[in-house]
Amino acid sequence: MPDADALPLVEAQLRRFLRREVDAGSLEAGGRISDAMLAKVAELGLFGLSIPERWGGLELGLAGCCSVVTQLARSDRSLATTVGLHNGLGVRPLIDRGGDALRARWLPRLAAGEVIASFAATEAGAGSDLTRAATLATLDGDHVVVEGEKHFVTNGGFAGLFTILARTPDRGGARGQALVLVPRDTPGVTVGPEEHKLGLRASSTVTVRFDGVRVPADHVLGEPGAGASDALAALEWGRTLMAAGCVGTAVAATDAALEHVRTRRQFGRPLLSFPSVRQHVAAMLRESFAMQALVMAAGRAERRGDELSHLATAAKIVCSEGAFDLCDRAIQLHGGLGYLEGSGVARMLRDARVTRIFEGANEVLLARLGTALYAAESSAERRRLHEHDGPLAARFDDVDAHLEVALIRAREIHGLAGVRAQTLLQAFARADIALAAASACLASRSPERALAHQAAEDQLDRAERWIVAAAGAPERSARDALLVEPWVERRLDASPSSEVRA
Ligand SMILES: Cc1cc2nc3c(=O)[nH]c(=O)nc-3n(C[C@H](O)[C@H](O)[C@H](O)COP(=O)(O)OP(=O)(O)OC[C@H]3O[C@@H](n4cnc5c(N)ncnc54)[C@H](O)[C@@H]3O)c2cc1C
Repeated sequence: MPDADALPLVEAQLRRFLRREVDAGSLEAGGRISDAMLAKVAELGLFGLSIPERWGGLELGLAGCCSVVTQLARSDRSLATTVGLHNGLGVRPLIDRGGDALRARWLPRLAAGEVIASFAATEAGAGSDLTRAATLATLDGDHVVVEGEKHFVTNGGFAGLFTILARTPDRGGARGQALVLVPRDTPGVTVGPEEHKLGLRASSTVTVRFDGVRVPADHVLGEPGAGASDALAALEWGRTLMAAGCVGTAVAATDAALEHVRTRRQFGRPLLSFPSVRQHVAAMLRESFAMQALVMAAGRAERRGDELSHLATAAKIVCSEGAFDLCDRAIQLHGGLGYLEGSGVARMLRDARVTRIFEGANEVLLARLGTALYAAESSAERRRLHEHDGPLAARFDDVDAHLEVALIRAREIHGLAGVRAQTLLQAFARADIALAAASACLASRSPERALAHQAAEDQLDRAERWIVAAAGAPERSARDALLVEPWVERRLDASPSSEVRA
């Protein structure tokens, strides 16, 4: 069913459900989402958003799924995380890489919410560097034996199906990995207690152990040995859906702040009448717009079958940082009330914080993006992604050209050593994703043209600042290439104490 048919109906039912039955404060106070709440979410069809119709899902596509996750996150971020994780990382590997028999067995139950999905890659020794995953999946006749322990498994407390990333030493060489489907009720699976978290307290996060767990060999998804790239493909959905959740948080924080500054009076007038308060709110509206535009651009790219990885990463970084910044501003505009849990904005900030860490810490993603930019021979592909018309097109092209020149100059100055200068690469990556956000604002079909224009200008300003930071200080960048100055290195290696003597 195309998005256009299914989405309005789902969203109308969802709005009613959220208004009547979801209160984020009570959900959080109640601990992990209850089975009764999960059953209601299942009844609305939300566990089948991304699953093809032939297996009982709604087949909404990435854009439609993002729209639903944004709406959920406006009411409660834990619920949005549960649904987003299931529809993205949870089921995509099975949809895209599973055999027909396996899909026919599991997808209808997943779509109905009878079984909930999770994705388990992280381990004690393998976080940002998943090549270090130690969990093994070894072939034994027509079965695979899984041995290892996965940490931070979202949905793990109630999931019926785990997609795990494991090493496959007998396929793909020493570094070969694969995604393996493990049903929870397989002997040898042990689910640990719920973690106590800063935020997202109603979502489930657990450790799961796999001791000699035997699953049929067809439970290995995709090409044996190709687990790392299969995981990256699933992360494109995962990161975009997470960014969509950040948009929901951003909208909720902005709404709450606006409501407060309209009604709260100080010095005999509403807070909203003070110029700097108005500037805060205007900046929030522009940032939210850019976040939303990037998520929608990723959704359109998926629908067209275009390359998604760059937009998904840009959306993940821009939206996770934007959501946190907006929650922080909302707290500031609430004054002391914002610091109290009753205001709701304190919880939003706690819930948003983790999005800069999970599904790839932002620093790591920026360094990878920067390395790819630095190493790229030609910018033709990047330019294609950004092509557009409109009143800001000339400025856009100027900033894009500045970035290109800065990259060429950096390559001349630093040569190969530049790939070790992480802060330099991250600055280039930040300029690049700000350009992607500007482009998304300009390409947006929103009727709010003035807002789109201003949001794009903000992003172009941001891109220019990062280009100046990267290109304007070649001396400092050169020091970065060699890591840091000697006295800092001595201090870093000396002792764990952070005490500084005057
Ligand atoms: C609530 C929650 C839910 C999660 N859900 C899941 C899940 O469902 N499935 C799953 O598999 N995982 C999940 N995770 C794990 C999450 O993806 C990891 O925490 C994340 O990838 C970072 O890994 P790490 O915690 O080991 O941090 P580390 O890799 O130890 O990194 C710590 C910090 O060091 C810095 N850093 C690390 N490497 C570099 C580098 N190369 N360059 C520069 N800086 C660097 C970054 O600032 C990073 O934040 C979840 C985590 C949380 C907190």
